[in-house]
Amino acid sequence: MTEQHVVKKMAKIHCAKGPKNCKTCREYAKEIRYELLDTDPQENELAARPMIELEVMGEKTWVTFDVIAYFDTMDELQEYTAKNDIKIEQIIDE
Ligand SMILES: [Zn+2]
Repeated sequence: MTEQHVVKKMAKIHCAKGPKNCKTCREYAKEIRYELLDTDPQENELAARPMIELEVMGEKTWVTFDVIAYFDTMDELQEYTAKNDIKIEQIIDE
């Protein structure tokens, strides 16, 4: 099994009301966070895992994932991946 790591750029989330109905959400939405995902997590059949759609070799496919960590900046993320010898396969822009 090959490990696959993906970075997802996403807006910070404040609450369930969303940017349309909440001023703080609107503020948060301007800030981007980087979510480091492991899209080949250890099998655990009992766990209902979240899924994400990825493009793998030109084909869109759904995979399960684990969130490894969140980062406020790309610099922090790169420092972490360098330290932990993680290769980022894909960066997803939301
Ligand atoms: Zn809110």
